[in-house]
Amino acid sequence: MITSTSDEALDLLVVGGGVTGAGVARDAALRGLRVCLVEQRDFASGTTWGSSGMIHGGIRYLEHDWETTRISCLDSGYIKRIAPHLLFPVVFLVPVYADAKLGIEVMEVGLEAYDRFQPYKAGRPHVRLSADEALILEPGLNPRGLVGALTMDEWGVDAARLVVLNALDARANGAELRTWTEVAGLLRDGSGAVTGARVRSRLTGVEEEIRAAVVCNAAGPWAAEVCAMAGVELQLRPAKGIHLVYDRRITNVALSIEAIDGRGLLLVPHAGTTLLGTTDDDHYGDPERLDVTEDEIEYLLQATERVLPSIRQHRIAHATAAVRPTLHRWSRYEDDLSREYEVFDHAVDGAQGLVTVAGGKMSMFRKMAEDAVDAVVRRLGRGLPACTTHRRPLPGGGSPVDVEDVANSMAVPLHLAQRLAGRHGDGVWALLREAEAGDRGTVVCECEGVTRAELRHSIRHEHVERLEDLYRRVRCTGGACQGMRCCWAAAQLMGAERGWSPARVGDEVRAFLDARWRDRPVVLRGVSAAQEELTRGALTP
Ligand SMILES: Cc1cc2nc3c(=O)[nH]c(=O)nc-3n(C[C@H](O)[C@H](O)[C@H](O)COP(=O)(O)OP(=O)(O)OC[C@H]3O[C@@H](n4cnc5c(N)ncnc54)[C@H](O)[C@@H]3O)c2cc1C
Repeated sequence: MITSTSDEALDLLVVGGGVTGAGVARDAALRGLRVCLVEQRDFASGTTWGSSGMIHGGIRYLEHDWETTRISCLDSGYIKRIAPHLLFPVVFLVPVYADAKLGIEVMEVGLEAYDRFQPYKAGRPHVRLSADEALILEPGLNPRGLVGALTMDEWGVDAARLVVLNALDARANGAELRTWTEVAGLLRDGSGAVTGARVRSRLTGVEEEIRAAVVCNAAGPWAAEVCAMAGVELQLRPAKGIHLVYDRRITNVALSIEAIDGRGLLLVPHAGTTLLGTTDDDHYGDPERLDVTEDEIEYLLQATERVLPSIRQHRIAHATAAVRPTLHRWSRYEDDLSREYEVFDHAVDGAQGLVTVAGGKMSMFRKMAEDAVDAVVRRLGRGLPACTTHRRPLPGGGSPVDVEDVANSMAVPLHLAQRLAGRHGDGVWALLREAEAGDRGTVVCECEGVTRAELRHSIRHEHVERLEDLYRRVRCTGGACQGMRCCWAAAQLMGAERGWSPARVGDEVRAFLDARWRDRPVVLRGVSAAQEELTRGALTP
């Protein structure tokens, strides 16, 4: 049922609230376009959520695709400049063993080449370590056959927070945001031109039409599906990748690991957890329904235990799976596929008004968005200001924060001030000033150090629709217990803020637990599986 139709057409409707779509919405809003972004679930709940959280240059593309490494490093540098609070240094150790395919000398040549790109992203050149030095840095390394190690500087990011900050900045500059709203069809005029979309709320079922001069398809691995709504064929080569998420930080530094087939894997301490990934396999199914298989888990564990023999003793909290929206290439091994991107103006396919941006990676999302908005502006045929997203700070990125000062003057424990500053940057002051004194230091999510003050702020100001959105805003429920200890408290707080009935609070908790459970059984073993079943049963309303 169509319940409302907006008469006044927007300049731009963005389909997809991953890192690309949020970047497009921000760039377009900053250039003065009237923009609406629709996302079928929450921001960053597609591929971006399942990424390794690296803002990196991609050393491995150097072999086949020098230009992707260059663009990626350049854009990583810009992202570091506009969101310095959000990025954290990740120092990789690349341990080299006697039986490695390439010896340490050859490996070092690769890192020397990569060093030339490091200044773009404020990274330091590599350092070569002896086996003893490597073991001091990371005592968990397998010492047998260890020849030495090389270091490599990269940046890590809370990918969901990066998306949210782009979306919130788009909103601050006039964009409308609609999450949990799917594009069910594209509107076309008699000539076949795309004139907007029919959207449906996944929360209420209400449908409406949104008219726009241009629709930008930033739907990641769903991009072909959106194109098909306009009768346009777009071929991608979607590739699935999984991660195992450990319940704590299990190493001092990040590790670069070689899998049995020579693929590069990574193990990265990330917030209160550790990520181990990733696989890279052609995927032909629905990107929204992804299973993690025992084989994929074993592939990662087998590779890792050669370097970190204790890996099987650590507890996996959950697994993630996502699909890379890679551009289509024939006859190429998945891992060798380039991460180049492309902006398609579908006027050439008879669908004027539809622009797709596909491929690429998170580390170059800003540049992808810039190129996509340039194409939109060309299509609109109006003189508009140039892109400014490489120099305008994202919310919180305007000025450095003295964490000790925050802790002392706002009476917040130092470790909580640190977490807050990492997520909110200089916005931490406003957040804490607005909070009631009793909420500032009261922790709701113990695993990730999320306070009542931060949750209230997020619920009020950060476009939160559902309980599970709080994970992507501030990592609430993202730690070791996977929300088993805090989901009720968070739901009640949200219910109080939103005036939800007790039944609605219960529904949210049930939906949250069901969604979380989906990617857990495959990684739970023995007694922890029994414990989890029991906790889930006790919590389910
Ligand atoms: C395992 C893995 C690890 C990775 N690690 C890294 C990394 O460390 N660093 C890096 O730079 N890159 C990494 N990448 C690549 C990177 O994650 C992606 O290139 C990037 O996140 C894609 O973002 P996107 O916005 O284009 O797609 P998505 O994040 O998938 O966003 C598209 C959005 O569109 C929405 N959507 C789809 N259809 C509709 C519709 N009909 N209506 C409304 N909304 C719709 C979806 O719900 C989704 O949220 C990784 C990828 C994978 C799979």
